[in-house]
Amino acid sequence: MKPKMNRREFIKFAGAGVASLGVSGCVSPNEAGDKKPLAKKPNFVVIFCDDLGYGDLGVYGHPTIRTPNIDKMAAEGQKWTNFYVAASVCTPSRAGLMTGRLPIRSGMCSDKRRVLFPNSAGGLPKSEVTIAEALKPQSYATMCIGKWHLGHLPQYLPTRHGFDSYFGIPYSNDMKPSPLLDNEKTIEEPADQTTLTKRYTERAVGFIEKNKSKPFFLYFAHTFPHVPLFASNAFKDKSTRGLYGDVVEELDWSVGEIVDTLHRLKLAENTLVLFTSDNGPWLIMKLNGGSAGLLREGKGCTFDGGMREPFIAWWPGKIKPGQVTQEMGSTLDFLPTLCSLAGAKLPDENMLDGMDISPALLGTGPSPRNVMFFYRGAKLYAIRKGRYKAHYITRSAYGKGGETKQDPPLLFHLGHDPAEKYNIAEKHPDVIDDIRKEVALHLLNLTPGEDQLAKRIAGK
Ligand code: MG
Repeated sequence: MKPKMNRREFIKFAGAGVASLGVSGCVSPNEAGDKKPLAKKPNFVVIFCDDLGYGDLGVYGHPTIRTPNIDKMAAEGQKWTNFYVAASVCTPSRAGLMTGRLPIRSGMCSDKRRVLFPNSAGGLPKSEVTIAEALKPQSYATMCIGKWHLGHLPQYLPTRHGFDSYFGIPYSNDMKPSPLLDNEKTIEEPADQTTLTKRYTERAVGFIEKNKSKPFFLYFAHTFPHVPLFASNAFKDKSTRGLYGDVVEELDWSVGEIVDTLHRLKLAENTLVLFTSDNGPWLIMKLNGGSAGLLREGKGCTFDGGMREPFIAWWPGKIKPGQVTQEMGSTLDFLPTLCSLAGAKLPDENMLDGMDISPALLGTGPSPRNVMFFYRGAKLYAIRKGRYKAHYITRSAYGKGGETKQDPPLLFHLGHDPAEKYNIAEKHPDVIDDIRKEVALHLLNLTPGEDQLAKRIAGK
């Protein structure tokens, strides 16, 4: 296995490598010659909700939450129905998105604590290369807005991981006190959560306006609909779904503001917007939690309700409108996909779990993803290959019930049975055997990172 470059080495390498190729357009140096370069480097906006379920949007079938702006994005772009996040809870899911690597590799998952807390001493290691760092050598302006949750100590903040600026809360909004940071400075503590979505959106619009003439990457990670729920006065008591609906409808307004800004500045045809969420709905919150639609379970669980998410990709003129795809994709794929579209070098292909899904977005080929691994903490619980998903270990999302080892594994056909109700293991020993080989191959190439989530600040 190749040793991984540290961050500084990578940035030096990527900058020098691209300069020596004389690449100015959008072509991956790894695939030079296979793709037509784009005239101009595209902008990227990743809108990442917190705990929004598969069934929480109008366009994904919710009967009483109104999301006209997100629905319109889907109508003008591509809606995915088999899209997964890297983990079923916040911290590891975000680490996977930001690095293109399963959180087990970066140490951003643990069997001791499931996420980072205000007394955590760990965070995303310096050696990891984030999307922002990978894009930096291509002269991208970068901003992170919203919930970070990859380490709140100064050395772990977005501004130390490739982002030019940051505005948001460093961990979950139920962890007290939730400070509001402007770059690395606390400007409000606790943050006034009733106006967070509004203020995030204003910052996002400001960032796009300021960088309209250069390529930019905006990582916009909303605080909501994570509990406790807050909506501004303009949205409070408006949704038939109650407070949860108010909150999601305000997020939808925010999406509309971003899209309107891109149109107003004539950037729409040069901007890829990706919309999804970090994990499934927090079902134990009952009325304050969302819905995974027909999927089984929710946040915290390796059944699909915990990790299959709404995903919409929008890019007028590049992504064909009105498509619904059943292909498989993951937030792990964001880093290699954006690198490919920006002509940026990949950190180290051999150490990535993400794949370039740009052919599926642009309609030039299928998604390369056929396998997805479902970890809980540092343990592999389930694997999906093609339409089949095998669960080797199951456990309820929260509460006292421990692990149940499944031998033979539970096997579901997610095409026939997306709700994972009918175990067909007995009829398909061949499929189980094939998946077992996939697991063996995966484990052979796996070096777990040092556990970052178990570290605590001394005395706290
Ligand atoms: Mg979450």
